[in-house]
Amino acid sequence: MAGLSLQSVKKRFGETEVIGGVDLDVADGEFVVFVGPSGCGKSTLLRMIAGLERTSDGRILIGGRDVTEEDPAKRGIAMVFQTYALYPHMTVATNMGFPLEMARRPKEEIDRKVAEAAKILHLEAYLGRKPRELSGGQRQRVAIGRAIVRQPGVFLFDEPLSNLDAELRVQMRIEIARLHQELGTTMIYVTHDQIEAMTLASRIVVLRAGRIEQVGAPLELYEDPDNSFVAGFIGSPR
Ligand code: ADP
Ligand code: MG
Repeated sequence: MAGLSLQSVKKRFGETEVIGGVDLDVADGEFVVFVGPSGCGKSTLLRMIAGLERTSDGRILIGGRDVTEEDPAKRGIAMVFQTYALYPHMTVATNMGFPLEMARRPKEEIDRKVAEAAKILHLEAYLGRKPRELSGGQRQRVAIGRAIVRQPGVFLFDEPLSNLDAELRVQMRIEIARLHQELGTTMIYVTHDQIEAMTLASRIVVLRAGRIEQVGAPLELYEDPDNSFVAGFIGSPR
């Protein structure tokens, strides 16, 4: 497990600055939710933490280690996306074990970790199935399982439930809360959904045009937003 520190992190694409200097300390085991309008830089920030995108400026520390220049594979991070590209010809078990397969881990270890992840995600009965034989929620659980087997120090979620219908979204939200309780791993979670943000977060980060507008506990932002922008995302209707 690991905490996370963003220090004056910036990102430019060509001339355009999309992240304008973000400072944030996330404690080990915290559940931090990023909210903000489309295009404000939420995904870019996650991708920089994961190492899928280079930072233009600033430092990123994971578990106190400066990983700014480090390879994604070495950062001890796993990311779950909105579109969970499972391999259609592989079983659930093979899909989940794939990152370990790629890392050339021994078969016993892969089998053990897949079994553990399947237990946590209630997928034990589905390990032999193909993705097309699963519901949307089950498929997203497989994608989360693929992250769990890597035993990351930090989980990154980029709108993982956006493609699910309302009922499944509620169910999966509860599962993700349980997952966090069981694993105790640091989680950074991007969502558009105010209820997801309010119920999952230990702290919510409101982003606006590549900068942090306000950070606080859900109730703090809900009851006492700094401005109407924050209120529009989290604040009580008035
Ligand atoms: P969000 O996830 O909050 O919707 P993004 O992080 O996807 O926002 O995008 C932030 C801004 O950066 C947007 O204006 C987007 O168009 C721009 N952007 C993202 N990726 C690239 C890229 N590879 N090249 C150029 N601009 C990009
Ligand atoms: Mg995004």
